[in-house]
Amino acid sequence: MKHRRSIDLVDGCDAVEIDRETLTTLPQWYVIHARCPACQRQTPIDRHTLAYRFGRHLSLARIGSRLKCSGCGNRNGNQLLLGRLPRD
Ligand SMILES: [Zn+2]
Repeated sequence: MKHRRSIDLVDGCDAVEIDRETLTTLPQWYVIHARCPACQRQTPIDRHTLAYRFGRHLSLARIGSRLKCSGCGNRNGNQLLLGRLPRD
C-alpha cells in the first residue's frame, strides 16, 4: 500500500520547469499534486484526468492556474506540485 509519506515532493522549479513541461513531456515517474494557497489543501491528481480535462499540450503551470480547489472553491493561485514515485 502506498502511503502519502512515500511520495517525495519536489519544488517545481528544482527538477522540472512547470511553465515548460506539459503532460506529454513530463516523465512518467512524476506524480502530480495540486495545492491551494487559500486553505493549504493538497490533493494528488491523476495525470490522465488532467490530460482529459485540459489537454496534453498545456503547460503544467497553466493547468494549475485553471484548477479549482475542491476544499474551499478557490480558483486563484493554485499550483501543481510534482512528486517522484519511490523506486522499488
Ligand atoms: Zn482551498
